[in-house]
Amino acid sequence: MKIPFLSLQDVTARHEAEIQAAVQQTVASGRYLLGPQNRQFEAEWAAYLGCRHTVGCANGLDALIWIFRAYIEMGVMQPGDEVLVPANTYIATFLAITENGLIPVPVEPHPDTLEIDEQLIEAAITPRTRALCLVHLYGRCAFTPAIATLCRRYGLKLVEDNAQAHGCRFEGRRTGSLGDAAGHSFYPGKNLGALGDGGAVTTDDAALAETVRTLANYGSPKKYVFQYCGRNSRLDEIQAAVLRVKLRYLDADNERRRVIARYYCDHLDNPAIRLPQRLPDEQNVWHLFPILCQERDRLQQYLTDKGIETLIHYPIPPHQQACYRQTEWAQHASLPITELLHRQELSLPLSPAMSLDTAAQVVEAVNQFKL
Ligand SMILES: *Cc1c(COP(=O)(O)O)cnc(C)c1O
Repeated sequence: MKIPFLSLQDVTARHEAEIQAAVQQTVASGRYLLGPQNRQFEAEWAAYLGCRHTVGCANGLDALIWIFRAYIEMGVMQPGDEVLVPANTYIATFLAITENGLIPVPVEPHPDTLEIDEQLIEAAITPRTRALCLVHLYGRCAFTPAIATLCRRYGLKLVEDNAQAHGCRFEGRRTGSLGDAAGHSFYPGKNLGALGDGGAVTTDDAALAETVRTLANYGSPKKYVFQYCGRNSRLDEIQAAVLRVKLRYLDADNERRRVIARYYCDHLDNPAIRLPQRLPDEQNVWHLFPILCQERDRLQQYLTDKGIETLIHYPIPPHQQACYRQTEWAQHASLPITELLHRQELSLPLSPAMSLDTAAQVVEAVNQFKL
């Protein structure tokens, strides 16, 4: 039997009746945009995270774009300013910066945590640095008190890319409420996923929230009044209704992810493979289960032959992507740790709908792999 990397069909099936009812109710309501489902989801997501404001928007990339654009409109930063960012992240984190004419300054991850290396941040700060965009990559908390202290000392905005870490905690607080603002993606495969695209910005800053809300709605603070050249980037009512159902199960889903991840950690014992370093349980919601292998491509092919689907997160780091070939920061980047991780990383199947029997089959196959 084939083992898929992630079966969204199985993920959705567990709550299908409730999701169908929520969708049906929205269909019948006649309100499809900017309605009660959005308002309620925004209130519920803010309460869940423990922050003051949530603004729903079209997707996670837009959420991050709006945060930086709002800071520019508010005069906090201007095009040409620098934003520190982990060198190993999904391209969206970089796009949100470059889309706004800001300059990304990639910082290497720590090879053990795979998260931005807090020891390397200070040396990357220049007089033009305005923000640090922290990514909780793979579902693991990247925040540290030292990072917060640095941001305060240098007057940097701390922006969280929380696309992969819904529900993750740091000392009782949730990621997405630890910095000045956070972008969230509700892409179907994320821990809290919609049945299509969705995103949100969270913050305690009322002015920032209002600016983001305006930008994402054509730049219009009031009907037919346009303060900014914004775009249409709204969360639709059906997706908000779906997210409200799924939010009720997010903590249980994350607990289930931890059970699978723990099983992998306890049973994988192939010396050719490096497992993710463990943190206190609350600090990892295991969006992915990344392992490292010197012969990653051979391992992936071997697992494919055994019917086990794996993915690489990610095969090409942002600074080596064709879209950034002409940029000075990418041409000057020297990021050996990032490049090594992109050659060695492989993500094993992991989902809240997966059984321990399936995890055991993955373990058995991986343990039998020989270099
Ligand atoms: C998925 C993801 C995004 C973008 O989210 P979309 O909703 O797909 O636009 C941003 N950052 C990271 C780290 C992601 O994994």
